[in-house]
Amino acid sequence: MQVLSSPKTLKKLVALLRKKNKSIGFVPTMGSLHEGHLTLAKKSIQENNFTIASIFVNPLQFGPREDFKRYPRHLIRDKKLLREAGVDALFLPDADEFYPKDFQTTVSLSRLSQPLCGKSRPGHFSGVATVIMKLLNLTSPDRLYLGLKDYQQCRVVEQMVEDMGLSVLVCRVPIAREKDGLAMSSRNIYLSSQERAEAVILSRALSRARDFIRLGQRNVGFIKREILQTLRSASLARVDYAEIVNARTLESVVKLQKGDEVVVALAVYFSKTRLIDNLTMSVG
Ligand code: AMP
Repeated sequence: MQVLSSPKTLKKLVALLRKKNKSIGFVPTMGSLHEGHLTLAKKSIQENNFTIASIFVNPLQFGPREDFKRYPRHLIRDKKLLREAGVDALFLPDADEFYPKDFQTTVSLSRLSQPLCGKSRPGHFSGVATVIMKLLNLTSPDRLYLGLKDYQQCRVVEQMVEDMGLSVLVCRVPIAREKDGLAMSSRNIYLSSQERAEAVILSRALSRARDFIRLGQRNVGFIKREILQTLRSASLARVDYAEIVNARTLESVVKLQKGDEVVVALAVYFSKTRLIDNLTMSVG
C-alpha cells in the first residue's frame, strides 16, 4: 500500500491510473478504523481496479466545543488494517498543507445541512462538504463509498455531487453493527462500561419504530413518543433528537403514506459522547 501525504503526489498517481484506464474507488475516513470502515474499503476493492482511502481528522467539521483534539487517532493500527484489507493507496494529508493559510473556499448546502445533526452542529456539514469536494478533486474517483451510519452526510454529499455535476457515483454502504446492535463508531470507545451497555437502546428504539411501521402504524407523533419512551428507559441517555424524515429532503414527515421513503434518525448523548443511528425504510 502506497502512503501519500502531498496532494501533488496524489494527483500524479491519479493521472497515471487514469492513463492506464484503471477505475478508482475512494473511501474517506477520519481513522480510528473499525469493521464499518473496512466494509466500505472491501466494497471499493471489489468494485474498482484501484482503491484509495484517506485518513484525515478534518478540523473544519468540528465545532469549537467538540472533540477535535481528543478524537481517537490510531495511525499505525489503521495502516495495518487498510493494508491487510487490500487498499492500494492511503492519503494522509497534512492539515497545514491541505488547508494552507490563505484557504478561503467553502461549500455549503442551504437546506440539507439544517435539520437533524445540523441543528446541534452548526457548520458541520459545510465542513464535510468542503473536505469531500477537495478530496474528490484530488482523487477523481469513479466511485465514492459512504456509510449509511451518517445518513445526513450521505445525503449532503449526494446532493452536492448532483448540484455541482460531479462525475462520481456515490455508493451507500449499510451500517455495520456490534453483536448487540450498537452501530460501530470510532466514538464508542469514549463510553464507560455502563454507557456502553445502555447504548444498545438506540438500535432497540429503531427496531421498535420499524415494527410499528410494519404493523401499519402511520401516526408519526405516536411512533416518536414510543421511540422517546424507549430511549428514556436508559438512565444515562440524553436525547438530542428523534425524528422521522423524508429520506431525500430530510424534512419532517407528519403522517406516513404508502410508498414514502423515510428515515428514522436518532442522536443521543451519553455524557459528552454523542451517538447517532438511523433506519431507512419504505412505507408499505
Ligand atoms: P468517519 O471516520 O466516522 O468519518 O467515517 C468514515 C466513513 O465510514 C463514513 O462514510 C461513515 O459513514 C462510514 N462509517 C462509519 N461508521 C460506520 C458503520 N458503523 N457502518 C458503516 N459505515 C460506517
